[in-house]
Order: sequence, then structure tokens, then C-alpha cells
Amino acid sequence: MKRIGITGGIGSGKTIICKVFELLGVPVFYADDEAKKLYYHKDVKDTIIKKYGNEIYTAEGKLNREYLAQIIFSNPQELKFVNSLIHPLVGEAYMQWCEKYKYLPYTLKEAAILFESSAYKEMDKVITVSAPKEIRINRIMKRDNLTRAQIEERMNNQWTEEERLAKADFVIYNNDEQLVLPQIIELHQILILKEK
Ligand code: ATP
Repeated sequence: MKRIGITGGIGSGKTIICKVFELLGVPVFYADDEAKKLYYHKDVKDTIIKKYGNEIYTAEGKLNREYLAQIIFSNPQELKFVNSLIHPLVGEAYMQWCEKYKYLPYTLKEAAILFESSAYKEMDKVITVSAPKEIRINRIMKRDNLTRAQIEERMNNQWTEEERLAKADFVIYNNDEQLVLPQIIELHQILILKEK
């Protein structure tokens, strides 16, 4: 089974494109969703509270995402610290997940920071979803309750579009000009072939 990574900047459309792959029968491991769940893992929760205080979780025990985002997206050291807690656990969960699909030609691992975290090195191939910065900002402003400045701050913690394009094996252009479905189907046909 080929392990294919799929990444792209914030708002590039990774998730929506993964949903189409799922319709084609391809299992997708959503690394960012898995990471979100891990904030409730006992050891992670204890470490985070010790470092950032009780306010990081609400009285009901829910992660205070806005508070955490304020801390980590404006301070690369804090982002690095939190990633170093979460990423090894996501890696373990991914390995277990892969075991279930050994018989398939390929599966996808969706992660926003696949390149930045070096996780791409464990992938057989990487797809990047590409869209211009302005389009991405507009999509996120529509989807989430974030300001342009907040989105740009998150973008500044990610690789640039050029860096991702230079490193990827395949590109899906989701730029409102090219049709996306034919690109997905063409890539699927390449990836279901047995050889690497
Ligand atoms: P993030 O890294 O923030 O999770 P993402 O790369 O997973 O973002 P999506 O959530 O798939 O991006 O897409 C961002 C928003 O843009 C969503 O609301 C999605 O529905 C919308 N979107 C994505 N692609 C298109 C498109 N081609 N046309 C219209 N809307 C789109």
C-alpha cells in the first residue's frame, strides 16, 4: 500500500478534495483532526495545563482553541513545543490506521504541515493542493470567523506556495480556473496502479 501525503496551505481546499478521494473509495487519515483529539489525551492535557495554566481548558474540560491559538501562532517556540507533544502521537495513530488498509493500492494522509513537520519523509509520494493566496484568504474569511491578519499570521507559520510546489510529486490546482474533478480522477488512476 502506497502512503500518499496530501497537503496545501490554509484554505487551499485539501479537505474538500480528500472528500472526493473518499468517494472514489480511498481511505483518508485526517492528521489535523487526529491532532485535535489528542488535546484530550491525559498526558498531553496535563503537560499543556502545567505550561499554560488552567485557562487553556474550559470548566467543562473543552480545549480553549482561541486562547491556545493566540499563544502558539504568535510565538514559534510555543508552536514548536505543542507540536513536539502532539506529532509523535499522531504518527503512532497513523501507523496503526495504515495496518487496516495494507491490501489497498494506496491511502491518503491529509496534513496541513506535512512538509514543515518533516512527516513527508515517511510518505511514498506527496500531493500539494495549490491556490493563490488571495483566494485562500477569502475562502477562510468566509469559512471561519477570522480576520485577514489572523489568517496571514497562520500562513506565516506555513511554507510558501512556491516551497510546497517545488517539493511535491503531484499538484492539484484548486484555483477557480482549472476543473478539479478531472485532476483528481487522473491522479487516482495513476495511484491505483500497483507499482510505485
Ligand atoms: P485548512 O488548512 O484551513 O483546514 P483546507 O485546505 O482543508 O483548509 P478546505 O476546508 O477544504 O481547505 O477549504 C476551505 C474553504 O474553501 C471551505 O469552506 C471550502 O468549502 C471552500 N472551497 C475549497 N475549494 C473550493 C472551490 N474550488 N470552490 C469554492 N469553495 C471552495
